[in-house]
Amino acid sequence: MRRNETKQQTLDRVLNVDGLRTMERHAAIDLDWFLALPSERRQAVWRAWPEVAKRQAIIQQFIRKHGDWSEERVEIALAHWNNRWGAELHTTEAAVLAALDDGHDRAANAEYQAIVRNDGEEVVYFAAERAAYKRARAMYRSGFRPTQQADGSWSVPSASANVTYTVTRAGVCSCQAGQNERHCTHVALVSATETGLDNLNVFDEYDIDAEYAEAAASIVRRLSAVRMHYQAA
Ligand SMILES: [Zn+2]
Repeated sequence: MRRNETKQQTLDRVLNVDGLRTMERHAAIDLDWFLALPSERRQAVWRAWPEVAKRQAIIQQFIRKHGDWSEERVEIALAHWNNRWGAELHTTEAAVLAALDDGHDRAANAEYQAIVRNDGEEVVYFAAERAAYKRARAMYRSGFRPTQQADGSWSVPSASANVTYTVTRAGVCSCQAGQNERHCTHVALVSATETGLDNLNVFDEYDIDAEYAEAAASIVRRLSAVRMHYQAA
């Protein structure tokens, strides 16, 4: 709970998930930051941007170069960059972002319940988890991606320093928070990445042959029951 905040204000803030999403949609575009990104990250950021952000970046660039812009030129440039960098999130990216949203919202809900119960220890625990997911979402939207190593562990770049952390298969991070058994951004990022990939595999695991065989067997059972009924008559 922040100082000078009533319990109700804290509850409202914790559960203001829509507010967080709205803020992201309307965040001002930092064109210099965007242009300075390494190419892969720049493309990832572009895909994650809502269209209004893409337009804003293009308009800023036009103003910088030509002093003005027109709707028509923005439209042409938008199509060009969408074509080059991708108009929307890749399937994996959408799945990971959904898992990040989900992790964030679950932690926010648990924090909310803990505040209602006045369970101070749990409030601290879930507030830290929610904050970790919030930072992980921001990292992912800024184009940072964890990479899985041959042994199943993950390498996660730091968002601020020029370091790479390792998250083991057991979910232990080499960063300072991780080593002190506290929630960290990197574990949140890895856990959402794994969940997102698992969710995509749900389709692959669906065994249509088994279900088809079961349905066919059930029809045969019903038909033979009908046949027996008529034979008995
Ligand atoms: Zn960490």
